[in-house]
Formats: sequence, C-alpha cells, structure tokens
Amino acid sequence: MADYPVHEYDVLVIGAGGAGLRAAIESSAAGAKTGVVTKSLLGKAHTVMAEGGMAAAMGNVDERDNWRVHFADTMRGGQYLNNCRMAELHAQEAPARVKELEAWGAIFDRTKDGRILQRNFGGHRYPRLAHVGDRTGLEMIRTLQDHGIHQGIEVHAEHTILTLLKDGGRCVGAFGYDREKGRFHLFHAKAVVLATGGIGRAFQVTSNSWEYTADGQALAYQAGAALLDMEFVQFHPTGMVWPPSVKGILVTEGVRGEGGVLRNKEGKRFMFDDIPENYRSQTADTPEEGWRYTQGDKSARRPPELLTRDHVARCINREVRAGRGSPHGGVFLDIAWIKEKLPNAAEHIKKKLPSMYHQFKQLADLDITQEPMEIGPTTHYMMGGVQVDGDTQMSAVPGLFAAGECAAGLHGANRLGGNSLSDLLVFGKRAGEYAAKFAKENSAGKINSAEVEAAAKRAVEPFERGAAGENPFAVQHELQEMMQKLVGIVRVENEMQDALSEIPKLQARAARAGIGGNREYNTGWHTALDLDNLLAISEIVAIAGIERKESRGAHFRDDYPDKSAEWGKYNLKITKGPDGKPSVERMPVCPLTDEMKKCIEEQK
Ligand SMILES: Cc1cc2nc3c(=O)[nH]c(=O)nc-3n(C[C@H](O)[C@H](O)[C@H](O)COP(=O)(O)OP(=O)(O)OC[C@H]3O[C@@H](n4cnc5c(N)ncnc54)[C@H](O)[C@@H]3O)c2cc1C
Repeated sequence: MADYPVHEYDVLVIGAGGAGLRAAIESSAAGAKTGVVTKSLLGKAHTVMAEGGMAAAMGNVDERDNWRVHFADTMRGGQYLNNCRMAELHAQEAPARVKELEAWGAIFDRTKDGRILQRNFGGHRYPRLAHVGDRTGLEMIRTLQDHGIHQGIEVHAEHTILTLLKDGGRCVGAFGYDREKGRFHLFHAKAVVLATGGIGRAFQVTSNSWEYTADGQALAYQAGAALLDMEFVQFHPTGMVWPPSVKGILVTEGVRGEGGVLRNKEGKRFMFDDIPENYRSQTADTPEEGWRYTQGDKSARRPPELLTRDHVARCINREVRAGRGSPHGGVFLDIAWIKEKLPNAAEHIKKKLPSMYHQFKQLADLDITQEPMEIGPTTHYMMGGVQVDGDTQMSAVPGLFAAGECAAGLHGANRLGGNSLSDLLVFGKRAGEYAAKFAKENSAGKINSAEVEAAAKRAVEPFERGAAGENPFAVQHELQEMMQKLVGIVRVENEMQDALSEIPKLQARAARAGIGGNREYNTGWHTALDLDNLLAISEIVAIAGIERKESRGAHFRDDYPDKSAEWGKYNLKITKGPDGKPSVERMPVCPLTDEMKKCIEEQK
C-alpha cells in the first residue's frame, strides 16, 4: 500500500455539523481518542444555516407542554411511521440537551422572567422551539465547536471521505482526501460515526448547502448497512422563488410562527380551505383566532399556515397549478400585515426575524416589513437514511453508527420543524456515547490495503480521462433537473420509472467523467467524485417512491392520492442485494408500547 498519512482514533466522526460535533464531544468525554473529518471548514457545516430553533418540551412559555405532548406531535407529524422508541427518547431527552447547550455558553432568546424563550412552529401543539432570533444554527455550532475543541477532539477540516473500510463485517475506518492539496488520507478507527447530513443536492431547487451530496447514506449502503424511509424527502413550503439566482433559499417557518400568512394572487388566505381531519380540532376557525395563537393566547388554536410542512407545501402547489400563484410561480407570504395589529410592527419583525429581513433586502431588494414575500416549495430535508438502533444509533454494520439527518427513524414520513436540531443533540450524544463504548470493548481491526488501493485508483481516474471526458457539472445538473421533474413534490409511477431508466445513463456518463488541472482544490474533481453517491441514492429514492403505493407525509402520489391503512404498517428498508442492486423489503413499523398509545390518545 502507498505511504498515505494514517490517523489513528478510537472513534472517527464523519461530519462536523450539530450531530457530528455532539457525538465527538460525548465520545471524547468518555475517554475515547476522537477525530472529526469534515468536507467544509469547522464552523461552516450545514447546521450553521438552521434558523427557527430546536424543539424541546421545556414548557417555559406554555406550562401545558411536556414530553408526552412532544412525542404525540412527532408521531402524528410523521404519520406513525416513526421509530417510536426514537420519538420517545427524543421527546424525553431534548430539554436536557438544550439546557446543556446553554450551560456550555449558548445564548438563547429569553422570556421576561429570564428563561429560554420558545416559539411556535408547524405541527407543535405549544410554543416549543428554543431559539436565537432566526440564527439558531449559528449559535449551536459556535457553542459545540468551542466546547468540542476544548474537549480535545482533533478536526480534519476540508477532508472528504470516499469510502468506509471494513475488516470482515466490521467497520474499521475510512479513506478520503484533503480538498486543499488533493492528497489521500487513511483513518483507522475502532468505531465510526456518520453525521454527514442530507441529500438535497440531488434536486434542482433546494435549501441545502453544497455538502448535501448523500455521502453518508451512500457510504453506509455500500458498506452493507440498510437504508430506511428513502421515499420521504421533505419539500419545505417556503423557499425564495425570486430572483432566479436565489431560488430555493429557505424562508424560515418562524415567519409564520410570528404571524405571517399565506395568500394567493387574489389575496385569499387559502390555507383555511383545506384542513386535514386529524388536525381540525387543533386548528383555528378564524384568522382572528390564528393571530391570537401566534401572540401567545393559550385559549386559541394554531392558524392553518402552521399545519405540517407536507400539507402546506401541497396546498401551495395546488394554488400555483390552479393559476392562482404569484408572478414568479409561488404564492405570497405576508408578515408586513401585522402592522394592522402591532404599533411597532417593523421593529418587531426586524428583531424577531433579523436574517429574513436582511436576506430579502439584500437578495431580492424587498423590505419584508412593508411587502409580502414570494415563496414556493424547496427540497429541504431527508427523513430517510441509515437504519440505526434507536438506543445506540449503531447500524447493521458493527462499529458503524449514524446520527442526525443522515440517519433515519425519528421523523417517519414527515419531520416537524425544529425536531432536527434537537435530533442532532439527542442522538448525536447517544451515537458518541455508544461508539466510545464499542471502541472500548473492541480492539482495532485490520485495514485491507487492497480495498484502500482500489479506492485511490478509482478516485484519480477522472484525471486520466482528462478534460475530454464528460463534464461532471453537466451530469450533476441533469440529474438535479430530472429528479426535480420526475421524483419531486408530486409523484406518479410512470415518471418515477422514467427516472429509473435515466439514472443508468447518467451513471454511465459519470463513469466517463473527466477533468483537467491538478489535484489542488479542483472543484471539478470534487464534483466528479460526488456523482457516484448522488446517483446511487437518487436511484434508491425513486425505487422506494415507486414501491410505496399511497400518499403519506412528504410522499405524495397523484396516482395513489390517499393514505392506505395497509401501507401504514410498513417502513421500506433497502439494502444492497447479492447482485449489487438495491433490494427492497417491507419492515413492520415499530410497535407502540401501552404508555406510548396513551400519550397519543391524550392528544387526540
Ligand atoms: C436553511 C435551513 C434552515 C434550517 N432550520 C432549521 C431549524 O430551525 N430547526 C431545525 O430543527 N432544523 C432546521 N434545518 C434542518 C437542519 O439544519 C439540518 O437537518 C441539520 O443541521 C443537519 O445536521 P447534521 O449534523 O445531520 O448535518 P450537517 O450540519 O449538514 O453536517 C454534515 C457534515 O458532514 C460533512 N460531510 C458530508 N459528507 C462528507 C464526506 N463525504 N466526508 C467528510 N465530511 C462530510 C459536512 O461537511 C458537514 O460537516 C434547517 C435546514 C436549512 C437548510
């Protein structure tokens, strides 16, 4: 084997977002030598973009809130396909994780009596999101990064992992390259935690950062782990639609939490037209009641703009398709209207939503305190991912753990806003704890040098083909257009089948991808290397989408528009079959305990 730099760890964490950093802190605190690898710079992982807050039933703003309500909300939001054990642990442990973050230095917005302030968000019965204005992710990353560095974790920034390494069935490390110099590095570890985030860059319109090329899901799948719920891709209802250069950038749900309303081009608040039966008793009857809810009136129910994301996104889609959309293909989101209610509305909006104010001012030359925004659905979050044990976060591959957006289970068919940041903290901690335990109980495995050499050889092939090869950017662009059109927010069998016939053609082109120049910060090379992951996972999303013949949560099928009781019994699990192709299996959903059933009943 060539003489690559070798980094030895008890626990290697791949990803430095909220989940990765929280895992690394825990593993390091347990005495395990811990390394973190991240494609981006430390402090720049996608989590930094999170805006609205983290959900935790602390009951600071409404004392009726507690973990039982949070659990029931999460299960209802996920349409009961959630891993109920994860939903239970998440609801129970999130408050402690938020308070711990505060103890480590995070400065949250405050209630008048000095407690952590909590805001309303879609699908949450009570105000539940601990937040820092609309810059919560920044505060979270800043705090975790600071705490982690002082804990002694080692960080390899701007390094990309290309493959996981195995000794027999067990994961024993990873192989990758540093993006700056283009040199290969070998990471030898007793346990590995994947915390690589989502897959949004497989779609054309997305709120996701450049890092979201489905790496963790693909690495785990290739290593023999199972993927779960891959049909459930969340399209957030409110992304910017104009100007074109910023299409897809997120407009936080916090805008609606603060009283923002959705209107079509006729000025109608169309969300009152379609309230799902299972949310009717929790939804306001009138705009006046909805407004009172956003202002903290405990006797009021939430406005329909705060129904779950899947539903709101589909209602927007319906308005646009019916010709009632805004000039640039979205609808209007109006927070400026609150000046009818609040004397200091402009200052209030700027204080509560500072990033949104600046985002629209700078990118769209629009003052949200005076005018409505134009918004539309954007690919936002991946509910599916690596199947893990709910308590330990270990995948089917011994020694391989996963946490955060790249893992599956907690959110079922649809994630509630704010439940990701708390997911990162709760399950990041658990992954770090159990990875450290695994590392203590197992000696270091052997590195298979043939596996390393094969990965290195494959990685440099785009240079051998040179600039005459296929343009990797063009292949990625075509994949994104195709996924958006054929496996997007409204799906039908024949279109998803078309996607499945297109993907092998794109894979053949990706195999011919070529680039010029050298290995130092060569973005063409990075893109060429990302393609395998994006294509493999896109294929799996389409396969799972075809398989689930119903509409549920984020998965909406025009040819099967209803929810099916039969399909409600299963999650879809995908593994790499003996023929090297994805193999799909129906897996019975996690059975509810009597206590869990009681929690759900209490909230009906
Ligand atoms: C604009 C926006 C706002 C949001 N707001 C909220 C919110 O208010 N509340 C909420 O709960 N959720 C929110 N979300 C969702 C939430 O931010 C994400 O789900 C969450 O941050 C994911 O965290 P993570 O730790 O799993 O991954 P990330 O933070 O994305 O971290 C992934 C890490 O993995 C690294 N990585 C990836 N591939 C590789 C590889 N091959 N090799 C090495 N490193 C790799 C990346 O560089 C990065 O360091 C928002 C999302 C967006 C886009």
